[in-house]
Amino acid sequence: MKKLPRVLVVEDEPAIAELIAVNLRHNGFAPTVVFDAEAAQREVDAVLPDVVLLDWMLPGKSGVQLARAWRVDERTRGVPIILLTARSEESDKVQGLDAGADDYVTKPFSTQELLARIRAVLRRRAPENVPDTVHIGALVLDAAAHRVTWQGQELRLGPTEFRLLHYLMKHPERVHSRATLLDRVWGDHVFIEERTVDVHIKRLREGLGGAAVMIETVRGAGYRLSAAAATVG
Ligand code: CA
Repeated sequence: MKKLPRVLVVEDEPAIAELIAVNLRHNGFAPTVVFDAEAAQREVDAVLPDVVLLDWMLPGKSGVQLARAWRVDERTRGVPIILLTARSEESDKVQGLDAGADDYVTKPFSTQELLARIRAVLRRRAPENVPDTVHIGALVLDAAAHRVTWQGQELRLGPTEFRLLHYLMKHPERVHSRATLLDRVWGDHVFIEERTVDVHIKRLREGLGGAAVMIETVRGAGYRLSAAAATVG
């Protein structure tokens, strides 16, 4: 199996750090979270990450100071850095990029945007290292290879079921209405009845075998993909 890209998350707000880490894990990255510059330095001394998400405002040494220090060090010079910050002013952005950051994301950011930035930075630095896989528990979807495995066993899904599963896996633990699924999976240019969604959900469940319990029907609301359902019993 391909090694997952290591992402060092340096963020002192636990809720934001946790949200980022969960999303990274779901999208094929191996995150490590630290809360300040000293811990970040220890982490980098131990093992070089593939990319660093670095909060600007940290207790003690700031993210910008840390980025500057890493850029002059031979060993850390090439590590991609994405600065996270609540500041949005143009001068701050310039200061961040001058300090050696590869990119810059202003809070509040969407996790999809953050993931896109990470992939873009990795693609520029190490094109072979960009994951296109989503992991939810033992269910793994590799979009590039068009493969789905459950507990290491390959599953056979039709193209629509594959797209439907991909969408649900990228947005887990959330209820999606039939109308939303039609819009996001089929596209809004087609006119399909909502019960078509039910037909494909049924086929998807058949194709998923043991993982079918992860697709939950939420009465009167729609469908949800949940990792928790697969770990019970
Ligand atoms: Ca902060």
